Amino acid sequence: MAETVFSKIIRGEIPAKIVHDDEQCLAFHDISAQAPVHVLVIPKRPIESLEQLSASDAGLLGHIWTVIPQLARQLGVSESGYRVVVNCGRDGGQSVDHLHFHLLAGRPLKWPPG
Ligand code: 5GP
Repeated sequence: MAETVFSKIIRGEIPAKIVHDDEQCLAFHDISAQAPVHVLVIPKRPIESLEQLSASDAGLLGHIWTVIPQLARQLGVSESGYRVVVNCGRDGGQSVDHLHFHLLAGRPLKWPPG
């Protein structure tokens, strides 16, 4: 997998506003927030996209999916609601090739997405 800006954030080589850090994943504010709350949750292990996942990643994914609602509570948006988005590949709008979960909240989010 090619080096990405997220690997540099994991290693602390470039700054990020980190809101969660554990052995398996890191969460930080998106540099170009699309909502009042826009946090990215990423696995520390380099995984390019959803396409690279296998059954052996089930534990990691289960962990990330429990961290996300914890973060929503921490950021004060669990009651108002939030959206979790994973962009995959070119048509999915993925621009950084390191798997990441967008946690978006703080305003009503339109559906369907553009
Ligand atoms: P994607 O378009 O791949 O689904 O999402 C990538 C996200 O990473 C974008 O929302 C973009 O703003 C964010 N991003 C790109 N570079 C940086 C960075 O250096 N720092 C932070 N915090 N976010 C970044």
